[in-house]
Amino acid sequence: MSISEVLDQIPISGIRRLFELASRMADVINLGIGEPDFDTPKHIKEAAINALMEGYTHYTSNAGLLELREALIEKLRKENDIDVTVDEVLVTVGGEQALANAILATVRRGDEVLILSPSFVSYKPLVMMAGGVPVEVPVKEENEFIPIVDDIKRYITEKTRVIIINTPCNPTGAVYPRKVLEEIADLAVERNLMIISDEAYEKIVFDGEHVSIASLNGMRDRVISVFSFSKTYAMTGWRLGYVVARRDVINRMVKLNMYLVTCPVAFVQRAGIAALKGPQECVKRMVYEYRRRIEMVYKRLKEIPDISVVKPKGTFYIFPNMSSYGKSSEVAEYLLYEARVAVVPGSAFGKYGEGYVRISCAAPYEKLVEAMDRLEKSLRKLHRR
Ligand code: PMP
Repeated sequence: MSISEVLDQIPISGIRRLFELASRMADVINLGIGEPDFDTPKHIKEAAINALMEGYTHYTSNAGLLELREALIEKLRKENDIDVTVDEVLVTVGGEQALANAILATVRRGDEVLILSPSFVSYKPLVMMAGGVPVEVPVKEENEFIPIVDDIKRYITEKTRVIIINTPCNPTGAVYPRKVLEEIADLAVERNLMIISDEAYEKIVFDGEHVSIASLNGMRDRVISVFSFSKTYAMTGWRLGYVVARRDVINRMVKLNMYLVTCPVAFVQRAGIAALKGPQECVKRMVYEYRRRIEMVYKRLKEIPDISVVKPKGTFYIFPNMSSYGKSSEVAEYLLYEARVAVVPGSAFGKYGEGYVRISCAAPYEKLVEAMDRLEKSLRKLHRR
């Protein structure tokens, strides 16, 4: 099938219908969107303005500005324990394009790609566009949404080529422990698989540590690591991300950049350098606030009857199980009409997301308190019926 035929088969994201409904209603608290409510730090904006005035208004190298790639390899070495050269990093239009590049550069027609479900919404469509076959592997609430390697093994066939992992995880908030990543790494070696590691939320961790699987022994050539400026620096609209892989894989991705986007925006890349080299307190402040909100929302959810919820260790999402109230799309719709709170049905994140809803805590604390008051009242009403 050609990509244009595949596009006809890919449904519009499950999130969309609900948001269309929500946008036509007054007084809705939107906890659906997955983006920081903070503004981009001032020093990053100033760097972009200066870059514009200095003439960074032209094409850059397809792989991205050398100075940005130099700053990235420094960051990767210091913070991710990944040792690479400038030829093993490619700058992209957000983490989204980094993911697309990673998948398009590795998946061949008919290859099976394991996706740990519930998962971020883009993996499945991208695998399909690449001609691959997405295979959902359940990751369970009873294991705090941490994958079990024996479960993954059960889904491996001779056609399996890639496993996509995402830690910290959108939508569950799970942060994979080092030991689990080591087991996944061993499995990849044993079965000769590639790993695409989506680390868009690497800095938003409250409990435990973020480990990049590419830093583990023997993984350097097997892992494609995807990173983004969007969440760390509240830069979703700037569209800046990067991907790290061995040189031959990056060389393939250079062609994707070349023929799809040419390069990310030049002055945005300069702002990226400022983000990496500038003060990092802004990141700490945002993470502190996400944690405060998550703790409050978690506590409030625990008080509502018939909901089970795993406490997130990272991201700004929380993913309660509301299956005793109905299917996740029905619960989300009920909450929208009754509580005037928009959340995303868990089914949008794959078949193993059914029964859950995703609440985004990227809204001011007081708004979240009000949303939780409304949510609790509406659910208690449903409970009494
Ligand atoms: N990965 C995950 C898990 C995400 O949640 C997102 C965005 N919500 C992305 C990648 C892509 O983000 P961006 O393109 O803004 O960098």
